[in-house]
Amino acid sequence: MNVFKFGGASVKNAAGIINVSKIIQKFKSGPLVVVVSATGKTTNALEEVINEKFTDKKKSIQLLRVIQNKHIEIAKDLFDTIPEELLSQIQEHIVEGEWIIEEEREMQYDYVYDQIICIGELISSRILTHYLNSQNISTEFVDARSMIETDDTWREGRIQWSNTNEKINSHCNPILNAGKIVLTQGFIGSTSENNTVSLGREGSDYTAAIISAAMDAKSMIIWKDVPGVLTGDPKVFENVTKLDHLTFMEAIEMTYYGAKVIHPKTIQPLKNKNIPLHVRSFLDPESDGTLIFGEIEREYPPIVVLESNQALVHFSSKDLSFIAEDHLARLFDLFDKLRIKVNVMRNTAISFTVCIQNDKSKIHLLTETVHEQFAVIVEPNLDLYTIRHCNDSMLPKLLEEKIIIMEERIRKTVQVVVKSAPGIIHKRVEA
Ligand code: ADP
Ligand code: ASP
Ligand code: MG
Repeated sequence: MNVFKFGGASVKNAAGIINVSKIIQKFKSGPLVVVVSATGKTTNALEEVINEKFTDKKKSIQLLRVIQNKHIEIAKDLFDTIPEELLSQIQEHIVEGEWIIEEEREMQYDYVYDQIICIGELISSRILTHYLNSQNISTEFVDARSMIETDDTWREGRIQWSNTNEKINSHCNPILNAGKIVLTQGFIGSTSENNTVSLGREGSDYTAAIISAAMDAKSMIIWKDVPGVLTGDPKVFENVTKLDHLTFMEAIEMTYYGAKVIHPKTIQPLKNKNIPLHVRSFLDPESDGTLIFGEIEREYPPIVVLESNQALVHFSSKDLSFIAEDHLARLFDLFDKLRIKVNVMRNTAISFTVCIQNDKSKIHLLTETVHEQFAVIVEPNLDLYTIRHCNDSMLPKLLEEKIIIMEERIRKTVQVVVKSAPGIIHKRVEA
């Protein structure tokens, strides 16, 4: 069997959904599980609904209705008459959202987030299931929450592997054996108590990898709006080229450093089961894309990753004691508790510096917690460039008109934290 994953960009409107159905029809070879994300920017719109629940419930419900209407418009463009069953399914998901919004009892933000954010994936997968069946592509909807079991780390559920593997197989196999496609949602799972949990923004790729690994898929294909994995984000850099082949290792490194084309957790389950991952274009489905597979390293051109909205946080010990292992242990314990990912770090005798996402509330908490022991200085609004397989001649052009604040180099990986002069956008990459 194979697994296809379609992201938000591929199903953003009726034309997108029609294109997806053509791709499934044309490229399906044998049993298939399809994983789909919320349409277009629906997840961002749902984040606004969630924020308003805590400030203005009426507005929150209005925003949710706008989302409902957008999906009904898509359905109108797909069907001569929208199937009654689809309309009531959409209605049901919206009503469940409204209940949470109207709930008076105090609830934790992250918990509420997960109970509402799932609506995007649930509705898009309902529409796609109905559309595929209307095209005689026999398809069965499976609620991913009955397969993907996580702990209760809201917004970043950790997979309970053994139960998840078992549930995926017991749900999917009978459907596949009956000759039907399984259609499910990315990004969402559920605790053993049946509370919805999301897997982290952009997490649909990860769901597809979990399913591929559980079912020993022959291959997984993620269909994107780019020709494959490129030497940099084409929305940011010029002159990028497609990489035809990447090893699992290189793909893990790239995505770890923030290459947004694949969710960073996607590669590991595939590598463990040696399942090839293809990244292909839904705009040009005949073309080859990128194959991620194997271990034999080869020569790569420079690959550039930009992470914007970074902050440097400098800690120095107030009593001028050396920054030693016990200080570092305390700080890392805190990073772990606050779920802060350290992108670059460096220490001197009495100071320690990390480059992290510029999340004001987390940085505030961090500073408050350690202020008795450390003096803390925060430098916000920075950019982090990571260049894999860096050749030094490209750096001056890439970093032109930028003020370099910190630079780290390990073998052929260079990381540079910079401040941009106002009005300067990113320079071209010569790969
Ligand atoms: P999905 O529709 O699956 O959610 P995303 O929008 O998350 O897809 O990912 C595709 C986008 O990733 C591209 O449009 C591109 O802007 C961005 N991207 C970032 N880095 C790269 C890269 N190295 N190669 C290709 N695309 C990249
Ligand atoms: N819809 C979710 C998001 O936008 C998950 C995904 O698209 O992968 O983050
Ligand atoms: Mg995405």
